[in-house]
Amino acid sequence: MQYHFDGFCPGDPALQTKTPKADSQSSKLDVAIVGCGPAGLTLAAQIALIGGLNVRIFEQKSGPLKLGQADGVACRSMEMFEAFGFVERVAKESYWVNETSFWRPDPSSNALKRAERIQDVEDDLSHQPHTILSQARIHDFYLDLMEKSAGRLVPDYDRALLAVERAPEGDHPVKLTFECLDQPGMQEVVHAKYVVGCDGARSEVRRALGYELKGEAARQLWGVMDVLAVTDFPDVRLKCAIQSADAGSMLIIPREGGAMIRVYIELDVLRGTERAGDRDVSPELLIEKARAVLSPYAFDVKDVVWWSAYEIGQRVCDQFDDRDFQGDGPRVFIAGDACHTHSPKAGQGMNVSMADAFNLGWKLAAVLKDQAKADLLKTYSDERQAKAKELIDFDKDMARLFSEKPKTPEDAALFQQYFQKHGRYTAGVETQYGPGLLIGDNQHQSLASGQIVGKRFHSAPVVRLADAKPMQLAEALVADGRWRLILFADAGGEALLQACSALDDLDEPIRPNHGVCDVLAVFQQHHRDLDLSAMPAFLLPSKGRYGLTDYERIFAPSLNSATDIFAMRGLDRGRGVMVLVRPDQYVAQVLPLQAVSAYERFMSKICL
Ligand code: FAD
Repeated sequence: MQYHFDGFCPGDPALQTKTPKADSQSSKLDVAIVGCGPAGLTLAAQIALIGGLNVRIFEQKSGPLKLGQADGVACRSMEMFEAFGFVERVAKESYWVNETSFWRPDPSSNALKRAERIQDVEDDLSHQPHTILSQARIHDFYLDLMEKSAGRLVPDYDRALLAVERAPEGDHPVKLTFECLDQPGMQEVVHAKYVVGCDGARSEVRRALGYELKGEAARQLWGVMDVLAVTDFPDVRLKCAIQSADAGSMLIIPREGGAMIRVYIELDVLRGTERAGDRDVSPELLIEKARAVLSPYAFDVKDVVWWSAYEIGQRVCDQFDDRDFQGDGPRVFIAGDACHTHSPKAGQGMNVSMADAFNLGWKLAAVLKDQAKADLLKTYSDERQAKAKELIDFDKDMARLFSEKPKTPEDAALFQQYFQKHGRYTAGVETQYGPGLLIGDNQHQSLASGQIVGKRFHSAPVVRLADAKPMQLAEALVADGRWRLILFADAGGEALLQACSALDDLDEPIRPNHGVCDVLAVFQQHHRDLDLSAMPAFLLPSKGRYGLTDYERIFAPSLNSATDIFAMRGLDRGRGVMVLVRPDQYVAQVLPLQAVSAYERFMSKICL
C-alpha cells in the first residue's frame, strides 16, 4: 500500500483525504448505481477508489444486509479483494475450503458412506484460497472502503427505484425517479450520465430496458439454512456433497467462526405455476429432511440463524446494455443477478456478479475521465454476456448431476469427477475473454505460456528490489483503474533496457507512467545481484506533490527456485517478454520486448 506521496498524513492510511467537493446529495451524477448487493458495491467501491467522479448508490432496504444469501468466495474473487485492499480481512474471518468430501450410499448396504475426500483447489490454481464468508461481511468491507475514499461514498438507503427514462441526448441523459421509503409520499429525481442496474433478479432497470431473463426457470425447490447444531457426522467441518439412497441430496458448507454450518437441501420439484412461497417450507421441515439424509448420524439443531427456500433458474439476458437505444452509445447497464441467475450449487451468484462490476467500473471511469473512447463501454456486455452464458451451461450440468439419484456406483462417481474437473470454473479462473478491442491476438503466446491472453494475470512470488520484500506480483496490481505493462527481462537485460527507452519516448497518454498505464519490471537475477542505482529512471518514476521516487516497480524472482516466476509462468528466459494487464487484471496482450510499436498501436485504439 502506498501513501504519504502527497505529504505526511497521520492515522489510518486507508482513510483518504476528503475531496472538497464530495457531494453526497448531488442530483447531477456521473454514475448512478441501483442496488447495494455484491455487484453494486463492487462497482461503487471501484469508482470510489479511482476517485474524481460524482457517484451515488441507491438501495431500497433501510440499511446494510445483516444475514444470509451467498457465502462462497471463489479464489478469483479473493484475488479481486486483494486488488481492493481488504483480502486479509476476508482471509482472517472466513472458513477456508481446503478439502471436499463426497458421501454416497454403500452399494452393499445402502448405508451412507464417505466415498472420497479430495483437495478442493488444485495446486497453484491461485495464490489465494477458496473461502466461505457471509455476503453481509463482504458488503461491510466494501462499505468501509467506500466511506474512507476521498468522495466519502455512503449508500442512499430507503430509495426504491420507480422509473428510468432515457433521453436521446444531453449531458445527463438518464433520469431516475426514486420513492423515498423513509419519507412517505416523497420522491427523489436524479439525472445521470451513466446508470448501472445492480438491482438483483427482479431488476427494475432491466424491466425499463425491456429485457428479459431467458432460460429455464428451475423447477427444483431448494431449502437453505445456517444452523448451530450438534452432530456426530464426522465431516461436518468439511465441505460435503451428500447423496443418500432414498432421502435426497444435501450440501454442507462449514461457515466462518468454527461453529455454524450452512446446509442446502434438495426439496420437491415445483409443478405448473407453483412458486417457492406456495410450498409450506419451514425450518422444521428442513431440519427433518437434513436428519433423514444424514441418518444414522445425529443432527441436533440448537439454533436456526437464517433460512430460505428458493427456486433459482439458470437464466441470462441477451444484452447487458442499452446500446440499441437511439443516441450516443450505451448509457444504461445491468450487472449481476439483474442479467443472469444461477443455482447456488456451484456458488457462482455473488462471484459472477462482482466480476461483472469489476469488468465495468474501470471502463466507466476511463470514459468519464476522457481517457478512453466511449466504444470501450460496449466491451462490457460483449465480454460478460458471453461469460454468463458459458457459466450457465456449466451450472446446469452441475445441478442436474447433483439432483440425479445415483443408480450405479459409476453414476455416483460421475458427479464427483465433474466437480473435480470443473474446479477451475468454480474458482473463477477459467474466464477467458475473446479477441477484440481489449484483448489482443495470441501470436506471441509462446513467450509467456502461463500468462494466457484473455485470462486473468496469474500471479507468482517475487522479491521487490528496493526493500527485498517477498510478495506476490499481484499485490502491485491494485484496483486503481490503471493498466500495467510488466516487462520480464531477457537473459542479459539489454532488450529490457531498450524497451524502457523506447516506451519512454512514446506520447502521452500511452507513454507508461504518464497516462493510463504504469510499468513494472521483473529481472532474472537474484535481487542482491541487481544494482538499484543502475536502473533506468523510467523504472523509478517520480510521483506526488514532492516528486518522490516510486521504488516499488522493480522485482526479482523469489529466492526459492521452486517458485521462480519465470519457470512457473513459462516466461521466455532468453528473449524476455512484455505482458500488458488491464485494470481488472486480465492479460490483454503478450508481446516481445522489441514490440513497443505494437503496444502503442494496441493502446491507441482504446485511449483518447
Ligand atoms: P442482489 O444481491 O440481489 O442485490 C440487489 C440489491 O438491489 C438488493 O439489495 C435489493 O434490495 C436492491 N434492489 C432491488 N430492487 C431495487 C429497487 N427497485 N430500488 C432500489 N434497490 C433495489 N447465492 C448463493 O450462492 N447461495 C445462497 O444460499 C443464496 N441465497 C440467496 C437467498 C436470497 C434470499 C437471495 C435474494 C439470493 C441468494 N443467493 C444465494 C444469490 C446471491 O445472493 C446473489 O447471486 C448475489 O447477491 C447477486 O448479487 P447482485 O448484487 O447482483 O444482486
